[in-house]
Amino acid sequence: MSHQITVMVHTPAHSGIGGALTYESDTAHTPGTLVRVPLGSRELLGVVWDEAAPLPESAEPTAAPMQLRAIASVLAGLTPLSAHWRQLVQFAAHYYQRSPGEVALAALPSQLRDLSTEQWARRLKRKPKAVAAFEGTTQAMPTPTDEQAQVLADIAAHKGPFLLFGNTGSGKTEVYLRAAQAELERNPQAQILVMVPEINLTPQLEERFRARFAPKWGADCLVAMHSSLTPAQRLKNWLAAHNGEARIVLGTRMAVFSSMPHLQLIVVDEEHDPSYKQQEGARYSARDLAIYRGQLEGAKVILGSATPSLESWHHSRPATAAEPAGRYMRLAMPSRVGQGALPLVRRVDMNRQPYKTVFSNHLLDAMRERVTRGEQILVLLNRRGYAPVLNCNDCGWKSECPHCSAYRVFHKLDRTLRCHHCGFTQPVPRACPSCGNLDISPLGRGTEQLEEHLAELLAEVCRPDGEPIRITRIDADSTRLKGELERQLAEVHAGAVDVLVGTQMIAKGHDFRRVTLVAALNTDGALFSSDFRAPERLFSLLMQAAGRAGRDANMHLVSPCEMWVQSHHPMHPLFEALKQHDYPAFAEQQLKEREQATLPPFSFQALVRAEARSQEAAQSFLNAARDAGAALADELLVDLYPAVPMTIQRVANIERAQMLIECTSRKALQHFLVHWQADLHLLRSAHRQVIRWAVDVDPLAI
Ligand SMILES: [Zn+2]
Ligand SMILES: [Zn+2]
Repeated sequence: MSHQITVMVHTPAHSGIGGALTYESDTAHTPGTLVRVPLGSRELLGVVWDEAAPLPESAEPTAAPMQLRAIASVLAGLTPLSAHWRQLVQFAAHYYQRSPGEVALAALPSQLRDLSTEQWARRLKRKPKAVAAFEGTTQAMPTPTDEQAQVLADIAAHKGPFLLFGNTGSGKTEVYLRAAQAELERNPQAQILVMVPEINLTPQLEERFRARFAPKWGADCLVAMHSSLTPAQRLKNWLAAHNGEARIVLGTRMAVFSSMPHLQLIVVDEEHDPSYKQQEGARYSARDLAIYRGQLEGAKVILGSATPSLESWHHSRPATAAEPAGRYMRLAMPSRVGQGALPLVRRVDMNRQPYKTVFSNHLLDAMRERVTRGEQILVLLNRRGYAPVLNCNDCGWKSECPHCSAYRVFHKLDRTLRCHHCGFTQPVPRACPSCGNLDISPLGRGTEQLEEHLAELLAEVCRPDGEPIRITRIDADSTRLKGELERQLAEVHAGAVDVLVGTQMIAKGHDFRRVTLVAALNTDGALFSSDFRAPERLFSLLMQAAGRAGRDANMHLVSPCEMWVQSHHPMHPLFEALKQHDYPAFAEQQLKEREQATLPPFSFQALVRAEARSQEAAQSFLNAARDAGAALADELLVDLYPAVPMTIQRVANIERAQMLIECTSRKALQHFLVHWQADLHLLRSAHRQVIRWAVDVDPLAI
């Protein structure tokens, strides 16, 4: 008997097909089976989506016989993807306003798509190697601290989801390791998903997991899942997880879609990190999907952070007389394990410093003293390049990018002007392109210039061994080459570097043992940003940076570790809270402001962005969409704001506009977006100048 089979394929976004196509097949393939199907002249990989239905016989003479094409082939030897996995994809597609086919196929390794039937058959024949014996040193497990033991007992006894609020250095990783171990020992099939923001920045974590689990569960028990894997590696790791052989998957946001049939525990480390939000295609939040997936599959979920997102903090609020507790369980670990005290925070009032001061004299003295004693220093400046703009002192010409509404950054090392938005790069002009004046000079300061400036300021200073001090810079420019970041970090770890200058990259989870002073420069911009999340990001960055200092309790210190913040607003509540290392106080103040302004987490947002050759075209599409949705929005109490240009209005000669949608009910917002989508598709065909448009649900940057 013939069957009618629905198959999800990757159709281009907004093609109107929506992803599910119907085919004919002699076999009633199980949902989740991977197949190849013809579409036009091409053959596509697809996932059988629903239960097969018998093909209706065209008995009625009036009905035209259905012209279904047949499935081309089946990817043999592969267990079908689970119903849970398909439901996760379906949910993500629905919530983030994309087609399930797009989400499903993006979540599968590209080689499944690219290998021919013959290649696939050969790939299947490849015998898995015998489980390799672990060849590392087995490390003794540390005894958990009282705080860790309490937290682990809570995780064992409750359902979660859990927000593990643990100070930098409180031993969150040990909690993840033990919670994972408990699951592996309890259930001989259990699988664990551990997500981290950026795998390159946390090389130590993979080693720790391997060292802990490989001796007992084999060297192949852990696989990585991130975008720097080769297609072949990705397929291998994906298959290991899909077949249940890999017990632990360690990966970045994409790993949330790993096929793991026996998933028991999901860990989201540094859950506040913005890189959990996908910025193109389906703009999903891997953290939020982890919560959904945990609930769907009955797996426990642990979100961990020293500075949780205000959303997660709010969701984990304890019950009060007026209000029940949030839906997450908050677990706290305030102490630092085997590490020194948190650094003393010193604020420098830049209003009292001479004009154009880069380092106040007090800070410089403190830095000189420390490097002389052989201690390490981190200098944080969140702006790369030499100077953010080149300026003509005569006519006022500035190094604008001809293709973007932004300045090109001056990079002194290769003497270029580089646009950080579209990449447009030119050699630095000898004279002002506008008036011919030779006196063009940099305005402002980036990490490159800071490195150069520090070398002058510290030129006379020597290390304890009499050698001149070494300054290194780590940012997106210095680490462009593969392996360069690892090499630079290793140098810092080995103690070859005395002063490390860098962007937020240096604040992440590195374990720099000898850092005793952290200095943060030019942080004021975030205090008064138009983006309401800027203070949250700054606070978390500074807390993380502060956490880099004093990690070695055994280090003999002449004076306590310090974090210096130079600011024109040193008494700002954000710095007050930082001084006390008091995240809860900061969160409370911020949440109060957000509640008064009805901002997330007290409301829910979505953005529609449109790109066109002219700003007018982009805005007119959005405003037409606004008109089309107005009645429904009114009914559902959804606010539709007028279209506005994006902060960087033009990138690579494309004009960009956006429109904010806000509602106090997530459900109403979802309902609105689902119904409104048809309007947007329809309007798009009338607004031919629009190049692309996309909806961003729960956007992280406004
Ligand atoms: Zn000029
Ligand atoms: Zn540009």
